[in-house]
Amino acid sequence: MKESFWEELRKITEHCFAEEKMSGHTTFHAGGPAEYYVRPKRMQVAKILSLCRTYAIPWLVIGNGSNLLVGDKGIKGLVIELGREMSQITTEGNSIKAEAGAMLSSVARVAAEQGLTGMEFASGIPGTIGGAVVMNAGAYGGEMKRIVNKATVLTPEGEEKELNLQELQLGYRHSCIPENDYIVLDTELVLEPGDSEKIQEQMAKLRTQRCKKQPLEYPSAGSTFKRPEGYFAGKLIQDAGLKGFRVGDAQISEKHSGFVINRGNATASEIAELIRQVQNRVERHSGVKLETEVRFLGEF
Ligand SMILES: Cc1cc2nc3c(=O)[nH]c(=O)nc-3n(C[C@H](O)[C@H](O)[C@H](O)COP(=O)(O)OP(=O)(O)OC[C@H]3O[C@@H](n4cnc5c(N)ncnc54)[C@H](O)[C@@H]3O)c2cc1C
Repeated sequence: MKESFWEELRKITEHCFAEEKMSGHTTFHAGGPAEYYVRPKRMQVAKILSLCRTYAIPWLVIGNGSNLLVGDKGIKGLVIELGREMSQITTEGNSIKAEAGAMLSSVARVAAEQGLTGMEFASGIPGTIGGAVVMNAGAYGGEMKRIVNKATVLTPEGEEKELNLQELQLGYRHSCIPENDYIVLDTELVLEPGDSEKIQEQMAKLRTQRCKKQPLEYPSAGSTFKRPEGYFAGKLIQDAGLKGFRVGDAQISEKHSGFVINRGNATASEIAELIRQVQNRVERHSGVKLETEVRFLGEF
């Protein structure tokens, strides 16, 4: 540990931790320690980046950790969690402005209460709004691209910039954020006026569908693979005879073959090995290459 970096970091925020186990910050419940870990308020983020530059400490950003697989050897450098310290939500007319750490479910609840329609699809996705913009999260025919108006990002040099929808380059589980090392600080959504009761009913209906179809009783990162054009990843996996296939405690869910689940004590290496074997066997069986939707971080 670089003592002086650690001391300076603690002057910026009290929410900082050393050798923090990432299994506690990912929905897979797997992964080794982050050398340094912070959960800053908005005004602290640029100061933290500046400190990292001074001490040449590598950094990366996470939200709710619901689309991540962190290696068992952990992460060298600093993990910046944009979460509950940055979760303010405000509304004005048809628009909702949310800080990056606000949970999608909370933003969707506010939309429903305000009688704003368009984000029903997102109410059951277990992530932050920042993560949802980065991933262009989507479900049930909806996606963030349809409701995002703009986002404020911080550049790696610490400059704040506003990006409109076009500049964000939202595509299937893609945005321009990771390739530019931007940090999403907040997002403005524009929704349509609707009937509050009907919106809440639709959200409840979609949540029930999720519970029926997805193995929510086990840790996972949702759909492990992207949907290959013209196919469904789960069907390809099932057709390759891999439903229920296991490597240690990592398993292809018997309820939904598109989900890799942690049956209890799966290591990140077991999950990664399962993913690799599934990719190979599906390609041999159907000729289709499955790409992961889940992001790999740290050392395996
Ligand atoms: C049970 C379950 C069901 C799911 N269902 C769906 C679904 O229906 N549709 C869907 O699209 N996804 C789904 N997911 C995946 C996941 O919830 C989404 O991808 C979500 O948008 C990720 O948000 P997060 O805050 O957890 O981001 P994280 O997983 O923490 O991070 C994801 C990526 O975004 C980056 N990132 C996060 N926040 C920021 C920020 N503020 N600035 C810059 N970069 C950032 C990270 O570096 C990482 O590359 C599901 C996951 C689970 C566990």
